[in-house]
Amino acid sequence: MTRRVDVIGGGPGGLYAARLLKRYDPGLEVTVHERMDGAAQTFGFGVGLTEATMRNLEEADPETAARVRAVSYAGHELHWRGPDRSVRLHGARNLAVGRAALLDVLAQAAIEAGVDYRPGSAADLGTVSGDVVIAADGVGSATRAKLAPDLGVHASLGRTRYLWCGTGFAVPSAYFSATARGQEQFVVHAYPYAADRSTFLIEVDDTTWAGAGLGPFDAATGPGQTDEQSVRRLEEILAAELGGGRLLTNRTRWSRFTRLSLDRWHAGNVALVGDAAHTAHYTLGSGTKLALEDAIALATALTGEGSVRSAFTAYEQARRPAVRRFQQLASRSQRWWDSYRWRSGWPAEQLGLSFMTRSGNLTMTDYAKAEPAVVRTALGRFGEPPPAAAELDEWVLARSGRAAPAAGAAVDEVAWSEPDVWGEAADQLVARVAAGPDRPVLLTAGPEPAAQWARVDLAERLRLQTGLCIGVEFPASEKGFAATSIAAGRADFAVFSPA
Ligand SMILES: Cc1cc2nc3c(=O)[nH]c(=O)nc-3n(C[C@H](O)[C@H](O)[C@H](O)COP(=O)(O)OP(=O)(O)OC[C@H]3O[C@@H](n4cnc5c(N)ncnc54)[C@H](O)[C@@H]3O)c2cc1C
Repeated sequence: MTRRVDVIGGGPGGLYAARLLKRYDPGLEVTVHERMDGAAQTFGFGVGLTEATMRNLEEADPETAARVRAVSYAGHELHWRGPDRSVRLHGARNLAVGRAALLDVLAQAAIEAGVDYRPGSAADLGTVSGDVVIAADGVGSATRAKLAPDLGVHASLGRTRYLWCGTGFAVPSAYFSATARGQEQFVVHAYPYAADRSTFLIEVDDTTWAGAGLGPFDAATGPGQTDEQSVRRLEEILAAELGGGRLLTNRTRWSRFTRLSLDRWHAGNVALVGDAAHTAHYTLGSGTKLALEDAIALATALTGEGSVRSAFTAYEQARRPAVRRFQQLASRSQRWWDSYRWRSGWPAEQLGLSFMTRSGNLTMTDYAKAEPAVVRTALGRFGEPPPAAAELDEWVLARSGRAAPAAGAAVDEVAWSEPDVWGEAADQLVARVAAGPDRPVLLTAGPEPAAQWARVDLAERLRLQTGLCIGVEFPASEKGFAATSIAAGRADFAVFSPA
């Protein structure tokens, strides 16, 4: 029978798992080992949470959820800030919390439940002896590295670099912007998380990195230090946006996002939660959510009937589908930002529609119901005023049909189902199409959903990089998906395969 649980890592996942274990089974001895001296030492600034996440927390532990809410900053809109104007992308439904404030709440809640919380104490599999070990030691997990042969680790690095900064004031709404300097593009993701603080994340691609000469500054910065020279340079470049103010730093240096997934989330008496087990790109804002929800599922499984092994299996089975879904959404969001450069000249509303539908969890019709003005203006490119939301799909498909090649006209058909549309095979295809004749391309393949997205993503890349007219074959049941893809600029026309 499980009596003692050691948790390695006192981030959101580890602290919340510990709190819930004691809450669900007060007889357990639960220890959290955290190498930092406390929340004030943590990395990063604010993180976004959604109302759906808050509802899950409220169900699992209403008291802690109420305290998280109390330290959160809620009710701000999301905007796209172009060089000459700002467009509202959605209404006041954002909620964000400072990472340090969140950790303070979770640590206090764990202590009150009877958890032995030990800040300033690094641990590893050799120093803990619980019946169960929870590895909540983040994306750089040493526990995962030690168990790698049993876990099946898949990791890859993102194409862009980011610098996680803050500001000493609350920006009036969450927003994205892109400041251009010749070929350089400095993308900002900003949102307020307290009355006097905002997260201010800057992202650059390789062209910008090289053009702005940021590499030497990064290389000259020691481990754990802030890259002061990059920060000063960015304060100059983004002076208009910052009102001439300073950026706040916290061991702020350039990173590439690590996308991580495992074949198994447990080995022996060790289960992994949160970033140690899986990551989701920060532009979806879901990593903390996934860590907290893992904690709920693992604490529930471990305090139910059955062996540790069956609890671990139940935990993994419960969480895999949601984590897979969020990783897929996050990967598409990552790809959208990776390829931002090619959309940078688009009008704000067109960018907004493309951005809001990038992950696939929102259709054009749903978005038109929420923000009709954005969609109406974006669809203005078809040259006629669009109808009401309910009729938009047919309307877009009819208009895009005019771009489709006439019956009998020459079209290059390319079968595609490879998920990676920025890999070598896709690079070769794009180069071949760009060098080929100036005629439409139709991407065809079978009807599996993953391949469907791959075709749409590749179509978008081909459109952006070759300027040719690109069509996608969709199953007849996917009219809404097809219309959204065309409206958002991912394809020029759709061809429907028989049902
Ligand atoms: C730029 C950026 C922006 C983000 N924005 C958002 C957002 O808006 N919304 C969102 O939900 N998520 C966001 N995230 C993701 C989020 O930060 C992570 O997904 C989340 O922190 C994962 O929680 P965790 O508990 O698994 O790991 P972590 O928060 O990384 O915590 C791991 C803890 O383990 C400790 N540790 C490590 N090794 C040891 C050891 N040997 N002994 C003891 N302690 C150890 C570390 O000190 C750390 O405190 C963002 C991430 C990044 C990089």
